[in-house]
This record gives sequence, C-alpha cells and structure tokens, in this order.
Amino acid sequence: MSAAAENGGREHIAVIGAGQMGNGIAHVFAVSGHPVTMIDVSADALARGKDTIAKNLDRQVKKSALSGDDANAALARVSTATSLDAVSNAQLVVEAATERSDLKFKIFEDLDRLAPTGTILASNTSSISITEIAARTKRPELVIGMHFMNPVPVMQLVEVIRGLATSDATTAQVMSLSTALGKTPVEVSDYPGFVANRILMPMINEAIYCVMEGVGTPEAIDTVMKLGMNHPMGPLTLADFIGLDTCLAILEVLHKGLGDPKYRPCPLLRKYVAAGWYGKKSGRGFYKY
Ligand code: NAD
Repeated sequence: MSAAAENGGREHIAVIGAGQMGNGIAHVFAVSGHPVTMIDVSADALARGKDTIAKNLDRQVKKSALSGDDANAALARVSTATSLDAVSNAQLVVEAATERSDLKFKIFEDLDRLAPTGTILASNTSSISITEIAARTKRPELVIGMHFMNPVPVMQLVEVIRGLATSDATTAQVMSLSTALGKTPVEVSDYPGFVANRILMPMINEAIYCVMEGVGTPEAIDTVMKLGMNHPMGPLTLADFIGLDTCLAILEVLHKGLGDPKYRPCPLLRKYVAAGWYGKKSGRGFYKY
C-alpha cells in the first residue's frame, strides 16, 4: 500500500455520484483523513455536492463536533472529476450513482477496467443485487455492498452486503474501514432490498396507499407513526427525504426480485415520480420544500 503510505496511511477513495449520498460518503471519508475524489457525469452536481460538504462541515463546526482547522483540512481533501478515469489511483471505490441497474452495471464494467488491480469496488445501492453487479466485473471477490444511510455524516449504520462471490478478506476490510469511519457496520446477505429496505419500503408503500385511498392526509399519517410508534419522522417525510424516484426504484427491485405482489409500488407513487415530484430534492413530494 505505498499510495496509502503517501497519504499518511489513509487509502485514496473514489466516490461515484455527487448526489445526496455521494457527497455525504465523500464527507465522512474526508473527515476521517482520506483523500477523496468525487466523480459525477454532471459538473453541476459536483459543484452542488462540494458546496453541500462545505455547508455540512460548517454545521459540524458550529456544533463543536469538529474544529475549524479540521473542517478546512477535510474540505481540501475532496477533489472532483467528471470522468471515471480519475479512479486510477483509488484503493477503494464507493459507487453512489442513480439507483438504476443498467447504469450501475455499466459503471462497474468501466470501474473494473479503470481501477487498479486489487481495488475494492463497493456499491451504495439500496436494493440492486451485489451478485449481479459483481458478475459484470472480473473481480467479483472484490465487489461488495456498502450501504450508508441518509444523511451519511449523521447516521450510524453501514449495511455491508456480501455478494455470492465476495471474499472474506474484502468483507473484513470493509467492516473495519466502516468502523474506522465511526460507523457501525452490520453484515447481511444479498437478497433484494437487503434488510433495511426490505423492511422499510413496504411500510412507506403502505403509507402511500393510505394517502391514495384517503385514509388520512400525509400530515395525519406521519403524526400517527411518529407519536404512535415513536418513529423520529413519519414514513411520508422519510420517503420525501430519500427521494420518491429512489423509493420507486427500490420497490421495483423488491417486486421483480421476490415476485410477490405485496411489493407492488403504489400507483400514486408512480404518478408523483412521473410528474417529477421526487420529494425534498426536487422541491415537492408529499410536502412542499
Ligand atoms: P441522487 O439523485 O441525489 O444522486 C445521484 C447522482 O448520480 C447524481 O448526481 C447523478 O448526476 C449521478 N450519476 C448518474 N449517472 C452517473 C454516472 N454514470 N456516473 C457518475 N455519476 C452519475 O441520488 P442519491 O439519493 O444520492 O442515491 C444514490 C445511490 O445511493 C442510489 O443507489 C440510492 O439507492 C442509494 N441510497 C440512497 C439513499 C437515500 O436516502 N437517498 C440511502 C441509501 C442509499
């Protein structure tokens, strides 16, 4: 690991996608001392992503969770690129691009060609099969799911997903790297939606059916779940926060992958996504932002 030695022992990380998850993942690696290259096809997304990292670091400084110097040093560790060629010196790649299997398959084919031999290729996918993604590469033993939660700097969990061919060594490295980031990794196996979204998405989908059938307003449904079940936020607020496009994509994977009609996405969710009402990131979902 001579390249890591040059970085004071911290591996160089490439993060693919600068959206809400990608910039959060870049943030936590940079705070932990890793040089990070954030790569996105959109230069605008990269500019917004870097801006979000700066704002979130600033928030941590105001809360005294980080010193001003450490925040500046973390921001200086984040570089950006619009081409996947920039993974050429990465010792770990974490992919956090849009939740579409065709897109992820192509990215992993390219990463396998461009990243150094021996580099672990992780995906932050919410639901897409790690085994299928890995099969697009010639290094399936080095492909793994590293599923951070949103917002990444705040949330404790990393769901670590072993594909069929993922090696023990790859799993051990990703588990210890997640712990070094201050997170708590939990190992699960590769089935559609893994654990987090297998359980969360049917609840969100049911809440959307309740809106569609007029059982309650979004406010009423969220209040019932917050006060009645002690959830920190209601399922519709959470869906808006995750992104309704992402929720629909995850439900499609659960429905197709498990073949059970109980996972069919609610027609109202399809309608919102068709209208471009993606939730917080587009300014409108079940609520207006
Ligand atoms: P997002 O829409 O905020 O960002 C996706 C980014 O990917 C965009 O900036 C887009 O330009 C970029 N992108 C698209 N194609 C690309 C390509 N070929 N190469 C590089 N970049 C590309 O989405 P998000 O919420 O950040 O989700 C990203 C991933 O993280 C998805 O797989 C999603 O399922 C997963 N995830 C999301 C959440 C959540 O709460 N939103 C939580 C955990 C995991």
